[in-house]
Amino acid sequence: MATAQRGYYDILGVQRDASADDIKKAFRRRAREIHPDLHTGAKKTEMEKKFKELNEAHEVLSDPDKRKKYDQYGQNWEQAEAYEKARQQAGSQAGRGGAAGGFSGGDFGDIFETFFGGRGRGGNATGFAVDGEDLETDVELSIREVATGVSRRIDLTERVTCKACGGSAIVRGRPCVVCGGTGTQAEKRTIEVRIPAGVQHDTRVRITGKGQPGVNGGRPGDLYLRVHIQANGVFRQKGSDIHVTLPVWPWEAALGAEVMAPTLAEPVKVKIPAGSKADSKLRLKGKGLPTSAGEHGDLFLKLKIVMPTGLSDEERALYEQLSHGRHSDPRAEILAASRRHSS
Ligand SMILES: [Zn+2]
Repeated sequence: MATAQRGYYDILGVQRDASADDIKKAFRRRAREIHPDLHTGAKKTEMEKKFKELNEAHEVLSDPDKRKKYDQYGQNWEQAEAYEKARQQAGSQAGRGGAAGGFSGGDFGDIFETFFGGRGRGGNATGFAVDGEDLETDVELSIREVATGVSRRIDLTERVTCKACGGSAIVRGRPCVVCGGTGTQAEKRTIEVRIPAGVQHDTRVRITGKGQPGVNGGRPGDLYLRVHIQANGVFRQKGSDIHVTLPVWPWEAALGAEVMAPTLAEPVKVKIPAGSKADSKLRLKGKGLPTSAGEHGDLFLKLKIVMPTGLSDEERALYEQLSHGRHSDPRAEILAASRRHSS
């Protein structure tokens, strides 16, 4: 058996309780490292052998039924299974009394080696298509960029065949110093990607086909951009809506006013209704962020009534005039509530 020395889990570098996904990922990662097309010379021959082992390990462990049998019987699971079947057949033919006659544990190996001719798995190691791995990188966006969408240059690093040794890891009989004997080296790649408008913080944008290239006609992986939206002192994002605190003078709130308010595009003129309360909200429909449905969220202006610092004599006189007016006590409600709950 070609792989009698090393178990399939070892070959893939996963634990025995690895999930199907872990196995798939481990296979793809390993396949890229040892793909014979990435190597030359003695290294290539070695990698061809390893690659064959890897494919064999993956074929068994990625198939739940085969994996179960492998876990049960180990390396010789195929023979063991055939043996079980043959034994049952022999048993049923010979009747219960003669069950399993002739097949003792001792001749197990020989018989089934003959029957099944070893593993019989052909398949040229080279020429096997391997899909490229997915890549993930972070991008930071301002909220204005989220509003419009933006093009970004992204620097990626990928493993390519070492140019100094051509992947053999050996230069004039010595280990290659450029790649440290790995046969591959990191190469920088810059690509330009378009990030659509309206992306959400801490989500991923998929750029199809911009991951690691495939080998031998395998599909390239995808590039995932993890989006971070910078905090903004003016605009606060809530889904596709935008919230802004808008300071107004007391008299603007009392009498009504037309004021300029910031939006993600240019500032716009808004009307503060007469008698506006503190913390009340004005809604600017459609001035939020675009949604995936092609619509837009809203922009909310929360009124914050602010006091001027320092009063002129004239202003002081006006406030005094106000203070003589007939007003209810603005604290009446909380005073009453405090008594009710002070048991
Ligand atoms: Zn090298």
